[in-house]
Amino acid sequence: MNIKFKIVTLFVLALVVSCAKNPFTGKSTLALVPNSEILPSAFQQYNQFLSENKVINGTSDAKRVETVGTKIKVAAERWLNANGNTGYLDGYAWEYKLVDSKEVNAWCMPGGKIVFYTGIMPICKDDSGMATVMGHEVAHALANHGQQRMSAGVLQQAGAAGLAVATGNKSQETQQLAMTAYGATTQFGGMLPFSRSHESEADMIGLTLMAIAGYNPDTAVAFWERMAAQSGGQSPPEFMSTHPSNATRIAKIKELIPQAKAEAAKFGVTFK
Ligand SMILES: [Zn+2]
Repeated sequence: MNIKFKIVTLFVLALVVSCAKNPFTGKSTLALVPNSEILPSAFQQYNQFLSENKVINGTSDAKRVETVGTKIKVAAERWLNANGNTGYLDGYAWEYKLVDSKEVNAWCMPGGKIVFYTGIMPICKDDSGMATVMGHEVAHALANHGQQRMSAGVLQQAGAAGLAVATGNKSQETQQLAMTAYGATTQFGGMLPFSRSHESEADMIGLTLMAIAGYNPDTAVAFWERMAAQSGGQSPPEFMSTHPSNATRIAKIKELIPQAKAEAAKFGVTFK
């Protein structure tokens, strides 16, 4: 790291470091990139992605992505509102798209912009499997994990991209960083990993969202087992970032299920 690079880094930090409170954990989190910058950039990138890829419309699978997504969205709204976080989703403009790709992946950009690849549909198998993935991905977006990951990315890339963010210049680099941060692309020399704590948080929040939406969180175990079997030791892109092994994750999910069910019961949703 040369002197000039260090100075640029410090300059960027001094200008844009801020802390945002995570309503799910109550923790203050480092947020280098504000939502006002992220959402327009995310929407633009999402639309560009859709224009460059084959979006599947009108099929039963496409409709299921929309139906499950809408239920997860409603669950998120109910949960946030019930916990005094009314307005947290202001600026969100939810969309749920199925895109033709063999990739076993799904992601949610900030603002509720969701993409499922056709490649993940057989592993989802049914609506509950889709709800498991959807809940997990939406959780990353709600908890601003990508924002933090993007912030980390800004630090790593503290040259052009960092300066672009600092000056509010929505450069190509910034936009690609946003896409990378949410697992939509692998620009910038590889996926920026979600941390172990972010993955655990996304699993916890995701299980709660699926439960409030009426999908039995017990079914998440079978989904992750299918994912583990499919990956054969090699996890697909978004899930590649997970530090815990599949076995550790599945064990942890089993522990979290009662808590998710208890949370859903507050909304009158119960499971046998
Ligand atoms: Zn994740």
